[in-house]
Amino acid sequence: MSALFPEADNSTVAAADRSQVFHSWSAQAALNPLPIAGGSGSRVWDHDGRSYLDFSSQLVNTNIGHQHPAVVAAIQEQAGRLATIAPSQANQARARAAELILERAPEGFAKVFFTNGGADANENAIRMARLTTGRDKVISRYRSYHGNTGAAIVATGDWRRLPNEYARGHVHVFGPYLYRSEFWAETPEQESERALRHLERVIQCEGPDSVAAILLETIPGTAGILMPPPGYLSGVRALCDRYGIVLILDEVMAGFGRAGEWFALDAFDVRPDLITFAKGVNSGYVPLGGVIISEAIAAAFDERVFPGGLTYSGHPLATASAVASITAMADEDIIGNARRIGADHLRPGLEALQQRHEVIGEVRGTGVFWALELVTDRAGRTPVSASTMAALKAALLARGLLPFTADNRLHVVPPCVVTAAEVAEGLEIIDAALDALDAA
Ligand code: PLP
Repeated sequence: MSALFPEADNSTVAAADRSQVFHSWSAQAALNPLPIAGGSGSRVWDHDGRSYLDFSSQLVNTNIGHQHPAVVAAIQEQAGRLATIAPSQANQARARAAELILERAPEGFAKVFFTNGGADANENAIRMARLTTGRDKVISRYRSYHGNTGAAIVATGDWRRLPNEYARGHVHVFGPYLYRSEFWAETPEQESERALRHLERVIQCEGPDSVAAILLETIPGTAGILMPPPGYLSGVRALCDRYGIVLILDEVMAGFGRAGEWFALDAFDVRPDLITFAKGVNSGYVPLGGVIISEAIAAAFDERVFPGGLTYSGHPLATASAVASITAMADEDIIGNARRIGADHLRPGLEALQQRHEVIGEVRGTGVFWALELVTDRAGRTPVSASTMAALKAALLARGLLPFTADNRLHVVPPCVVTAAEVAEGLEIIDAALDALDAA
């Protein structure tokens, strides 16, 4: 402990937080945030010595785990050399981060524009699409989250859009989600074909000449880890080509290892025009996001001014941590670990839990990106109540597991470095918590 941060216990930290810190997405009076003092790998601990298996990866961003030594060292080294520099200067850490990101992007991508996080990455991707097409509208999905700034929150499909609807030119469609199909579909193929038909009809009804971009999460994350059915993403690409629309894939949550690939799109037959990223690029050790820009869109701004910018675009501490993080992920085969953990441990383990617990209506996902859809009856697929979810969350925390829950779902999203033994431990805790729920 230091002079700046003297020894503290949970109650002191919680009390200081409650009196002075204003929290996201919350009515402030009801809050009781868990104080976290430290972490390592897939675990965090509080100030009173209690440790938790982090099956949330915080906000699904600590892909490389907590306190990876190489990433911490890179931040310290860069801080010692040059802690900040304006975006208009050239900087070695920034250029190297762009190079490493482009090496992993699909062919045909030329430049990286760095932002502070995912929302402003989407904001700037939308700006690029509007400027290069001369069109205004952005089509995105109801079941999606794209961030909490002007256009990004209106591109978001879920309830968080409604109190923030100030930006214009946004249109929403239903995407494929077979478990709760909007299209009366019974197979993934039907769901894919009908969702594409619906999307094309919306494009036609909105006026194709007014649509600048289709913005999709490659795998919608917070909305439920909705795996795209066969042909959907390539079908969207074909529609974009037919109508001259820019395809933006939001890889903020799904990218950098979460789906067992560098980019989730690598597992699908689709090439977007713009890719947005944040979270896993450096596991959020320092805030960072960005837009990966295709050759054609990058070239459109060779002579024309790009009217966008941020004081901290390509911040050296953030980009140095991305360089270290991507390098460590490659050297330690962390992406491969996420893929194997998903195929060999999480999928079979979660499916076994589904056999034991009637409440699990569906298990879906890939890599370290899984959702359990919790229902009161499997036939009717009725979502469990908010109070059931609160009880489950409390039961998991009481057993030492930090969960990620959304609506009626438990998302099983540990860091990409999670071990088979930690998965077994986590699944045992989930099993016991569901038993406790059944018994209540
Ligand atoms: N896009 C997706 C898919 C996300 O999941 C998120 C955050 O959860 C964002 C964008 C916004 O990122 P940020 O909170 O860094 O602005």
